[in-house]
Amino acid sequence: MAKLNLPVYKKQELTVTITDLTYQGLGVAKVEGYPLFIKEALPQERLVVRVTKTGKNFGYAQAVKWLERSPKRVKTKAKYLQTGIAPLMHLQYPAQLAFKQKLIQDLLVKAHLGQVEVAPTLGMDQPYAYRNKAQVPVRQVRGQLEIGFFKQGSHDFVPLEDFYIQDQRIDEILVTVRDILRQYQIAAYDEVHHQGVVRHIMVRRGYYSHQAMVVLVTRTKKLPHAEAIAQAIQAACPDVISILHNINSAKTNVILGPTTKLLAGKAEIEDQLNGLTFKISAQSFYQVNPTQTERLYQTAIAQAQLTGRETVIDAYCGIGTISLSMARHAQHVYGVEIVPQAIEDAKENARVNNLTNLTFEVGEAETWMAKWQEQGIKPDVIMVDPPRKGLTSSLIQSATAMKPNKIVYVSCNPATLVRDIREFMDYGYHVTKPIQPVDQFPQTTHVESVTVLERTEK
Ligand code: SAH
Repeated sequence: MAKLNLPVYKKQELTVTITDLTYQGLGVAKVEGYPLFIKEALPQERLVVRVTKTGKNFGYAQAVKWLERSPKRVKTKAKYLQTGIAPLMHLQYPAQLAFKQKLIQDLLVKAHLGQVEVAPTLGMDQPYAYRNKAQVPVRQVRGQLEIGFFKQGSHDFVPLEDFYIQDQRIDEILVTVRDILRQYQIAAYDEVHHQGVVRHIMVRRGYYSHQAMVVLVTRTKKLPHAEAIAQAIQAACPDVISILHNINSAKTNVILGPTTKLLAGKAEIEDQLNGLTFKISAQSFYQVNPTQTERLYQTAIAQAQLTGRETVIDAYCGIGTISLSMARHAQHVYGVEIVPQAIEDAKENARVNNLTNLTFEVGEAETWMAKWQEQGIKPDVIMVDPPRKGLTSSLIQSATAMKPNKIVYVSCNPATLVRDIREFMDYGYHVTKPIQPVDQFPQTTHVESVTVLERTEK
């Protein structure tokens, strides 16, 4: 193997200045142009680091000693929370918002789309305790069942009771459920030997309804004392109106398995978004930050400039949250989603809200877009809200072939957003307003945004 001529070597200690922050929240220092990525280091900071890994194009280093701290650094209450849960909590909130705006801007510039503007990120007044959903791993630590979290990029388990960014009532419920599982001497999952019973506890809670759901995820088909445990949870937490048992026997990082059984109460909880009521089941996708989701949807609806006469397609519609919000301002909304249960929920949600101007279909957005086109449906607006991997070329092709005036793109991944914008441009669609980031995930590096593309060529 040819020896690489790198400006640094492994285990070397050197003093660096941080100039940037990656999309994962790592500090970047350049040594003769060679980037080193450093955990917990912030722009403007000077520190001594030790090189831990050297690749051809970049390397990693570990902070040894800070010489100068960033004025935007916040003293963190519990350092271990910088692990998976809140990797940006050491950065002041306004700086987090600026970071998210800049992240999109930088990606646009790299893609030669520097002319596209990005508005300042809409943030929260209280950027903590916002999550309406928790999925926490359960492990045995020194003979005791614990709830907690893993250190970032590892399987080191850290027991926790305060999860910082979760609804505080959810944290209380988690601790209560943990204590009940201990009382019934339920064994926690052992990942190494693929043994034990309870793998995860999932809790969802309605922001307005205050209804809560508890899902106990087990490796085993049976949860010992299931009935007594469910009764104990109900007795201790009257707001838990839904208790479910999910079975996940596979060796996997995916949290929920294919089978869910009802232990007590209902299979769903309800919550409101912008005045509409939604039923939420264990498996369905539901945005995790309720107040910011309202702002996100309001932004998307405002950008679509609906007058009540439009035909709208909501691809990737989930349980129909955007579809129903749009249906109040449009003539008809067509929604498509790949998860059948989510579409059942979406139909039920339309009924519950007395909305009749919606059509929901189960399947791939790509397929339905083509079918609707064959049926002669002419959407004025197409909404897309895809998962992190973004859109496929075939979706972009069939969406633009329907010649909507506007495409409103809600994105949770700026990298795929920028890639897709380029492709839309090939079909004559251009970004006509500044991209609007909305902070759905304070204290984390996730970036959500709304982009409007308009047909500028006939
Ligand atoms: N708009 C909804 C859901 C967005 S999440 C909301 O804001 O709540 C993205 C959704 O796309 C998920 O529900 C996922 O199940 C769905 N999905 C993923 N791939 C898909 C595809 N190829 N076609 C249709 N839906 C898909």
